[in-house]
Amino acid sequence: MKKHLLLIGGGHAHMVTLANLDKFIDKGFAVTVIQPSEYHYYSGMGPGMLGGTYSADDIRFATRKLVESKGGAFILGKAYRIDPSKQCVYLEDSAEEIHYDVLSCNAGSFVPQSELVQGEVRNVFTAKPIEALLAAKDTILTLCKNKDITIGIVGSGPSSLEIAGNIHQLCRQQAENMPVIRVFAGQNFMSGRPTKIRRLARTILENKGIKIVDSGYVEKITEGSLVLENGGTFQADIIFPAVGVKPSLIFARSGLPIGPDGGLQVNDYLQSIRYSNIFGGGDCIYFESHPLDKVGVYAVRQNPVLYANLMACLEEKPLEQFSPGGTYLLIYNLGDGDGIFSKWSFTFSGKFAFKIKDYIDRKFIRAFQ
Ligand SMILES: Cc1cc2nc3c(=O)[nH]c(=O)nc-3n(C[C@H](O)[C@H](O)[C@H](O)COP(=O)(O)OP(=O)(O)OC[C@H]3O[C@@H](n4cnc5c(N)ncnc54)[C@H](O)[C@@H]3O)c2cc1C
Repeated sequence: MKKHLLLIGGGHAHMVTLANLDKFIDKGFAVTVIQPSEYHYYSGMGPGMLGGTYSADDIRFATRKLVESKGGAFILGKAYRIDPSKQCVYLEDSAEEIHYDVLSCNAGSFVPQSELVQGEVRNVFTAKPIEALLAAKDTILTLCKNKDITIGIVGSGPSSLEIAGNIHQLCRQQAENMPVIRVFAGQNFMSGRPTKIRRLARTILENKGIKIVDSGYVEKITEGSLVLENGGTFQADIIFPAVGVKPSLIFARSGLPIGPDGGLQVNDYLQSIRYSNIFGGGDCIYFESHPLDKVGVYAVRQNPVLYANLMACLEEKPLEQFSPGGTYLLIYNLGDGDGIFSKWSFTFSGKFAFKIKDYIDRKFIRAFQ
């Protein structure tokens, strides 16, 4: 029987592995990819898709088509649990066992909203999966047709910033009525970021007429409203929880060693600390020697090492070490062509900042599309 490489998710850390999938096939290995969508969406351009700068096709990779064209198999589904002793993966709602010899996990992260959202609440859209932003865009434009609405974005970080700015762009360009847009930023908008970034982010949003509420954290989201922990209540027709992300729950559910955030605990080879034939990359791992920010930059940097180590593990050769590298470039897309650029201590805002991001993102996506 051929040795089987199984990939959970075709995310940012699996791009090089997917691009070289035919090399595994040529060497006599079988490869299967499990993913809940036939496409993988590039999150860096997700807010721009919400704002109407990009179409869905501009920002997605046709995972199924790529995998099948290179001789692999594609399973449309959600990996639910891993049984490392049997070396198999179970899908959600299925007892079928998908066997592997080597497993690589790039299942990303999700926005935990269960603590905030009370019961069945309509028109709540999380920042992840990125596909959800497509449905959000349609809902915004539909509701803005008939009445003056309010949109609430809950969160004080970059996702919240980018979503707010791009909703403004979308509505300015396409909506019949301009909504009220409020960002519920707890007590400190863009906390943990350098002072200059925080000042620029606030000024740019406020100049667009976006209101930043930083008088307290949101305690619960109910149908049509947000309640703050200080008792303040705000009406909102559409709500975006953008309260940070947590790694996929697959690993905790499977009893694999995980880090404090619930991510698959991996060593310097991006390999599970307990199971030598399980690897991972991107937001779903906890890199034990140097815990990493949940940014796409690290997933992208992990690509060559993950690819090399999956091949090496199948061929029983030595593994390569991953080094996270130094500081990374951050550019935020605030909609209406505005961006904030930041690297080392160098920070500036304006149209040129967004142009740089647009150029880098389009180049990245073209390379792998
Ligand atoms: C709005 C927003 C904007 C962002 N902008 C930037 C940016 O500009 N620059 C930056 O560096 N970072 C950015 N980030 C962070 C970045 O999105 C993540 O760090 C990056 O997506 C991590 O890549 P990943 O491949 O690990 O996860 P993901 O991009 O989430 O990909 C995971 C893949 O796994 C699949 N999957 C999920 N669950 C399962 C399952 N159970 N079984 C099988 N497959 C599954 C998904 O369908 C998806 O294809 C942004 C995040 C958000 C939310």
